[in-house]
Amino acid sequence: MPSGFSPAFSVVVPCYNEQEVLPIFHQRLSAVMEGIGAPWEVVYVNDGSRDQTLAGMYALAEQDGRVSVVNLSRNFGKEIALTAGLDHARSTRGIIVIDADLQDPPEVIADLVAAWTDDVDTVYARRNTREGESIPKRLTAWMFYRVMKRLGNKVVIPPDTGDFRLMSRRLVDSLLLLRERHRFMKGLFAWVGFPSRAVLYDRAPRSAGKSSFNYWSLWNFALEGITSFSVLPLQLSTYMGLGISILAVCYGIWIVGCTLLFGNRVAGYPSLMAVILFLGGIQLMTVGLIGEYVGRIFNETKKRPLYLVEAYRPAQEKERTPEA
Ligand code: UDP
Ligand code: MG
Repeated sequence: MPSGFSPAFSVVVPCYNEQEVLPIFHQRLSAVMEGIGAPWEVVYVNDGSRDQTLAGMYALAEQDGRVSVVNLSRNFGKEIALTAGLDHARSTRGIIVIDADLQDPPEVIADLVAAWTDDVDTVYARRNTREGESIPKRLTAWMFYRVMKRLGNKVVIPPDTGDFRLMSRRLVDSLLLLRERHRFMKGLFAWVGFPSRAVLYDRAPRSAGKSSFNYWSLWNFALEGITSFSVLPLQLSTYMGLGISILAVCYGIWIVGCTLLFGNRVAGYPSLMAVILFLGGIQLMTVGLIGEYVGRIFNETKKRPLYLVEAYRPAQEKERTPEA
């Protein structure tokens, strides 16, 4: 019976340890979606939370027939949880992606919908400010977007844009064709293309709980972004090697010249050491770099499913709030 329900909007929310914010989030989201006035559902994806998030989701589903719950078998990470949510979104028109922690204010959805005209497939929310984020985090984010801009040949990732956006059914269907394991969502959104539009908003500080991203995971995230969308680093090592070889040849010629002109004076142990260490470092770095790519190839060739669903409870518009 519930399979017949296809709302105009699906809101996809990946959640990892969000028990405190979930009820507030749902309240604010419902208010906004009711204001829009089209049939909607919300798909909560529990990404292996270790607190009461799942119980909270089921409680919401009991009260509200527009709630779908997808429970993943373990923690798969935000990018994959998001994909699971998109796979389970049944909307025929628009699909909205938003974080549960209220950093993306649900009220902005109204602006996204308002800005969504026939000529664009996606409306993404672009941050005006990064309130409550530390200077180093802002700086690293700024650097990341600039590096990506240089590296991501032809795929342009809009800066200061998270996953918070509204997408058309056709865009989501295209996005879901990309089943790679290493999912750098911002890059994938950009890769599918289609006309887009930006809406500015103020990103709020996290309302409760804590961010599950530290600098190490942000570094890995950046690495993911770069290696999934560019092979330039691999080419770079070729040119670096070439440059060093040319310098080494010049150096060799210079030494031969000196020996012929001034005779052989034994010296240069320190310089020899320096050159060996320098080259060794470059080689290790290059091998490591290749390893990053080989590791990703290895992971992709296993062709494992992206995620496993432990339970799925679809929204049931029939059971909608009694008074409605
Ligand atoms: N999240 C998830 N799985 C994870 C980590 C995070 O589903 O392994 C969700 C989290 O519940 C939130 C969103 O992804 O809704 C963004 O996470 P977070 O606020 O930690 O990231 P930040 O805002 O710091 O980038
Ligand atoms: Mg957050």
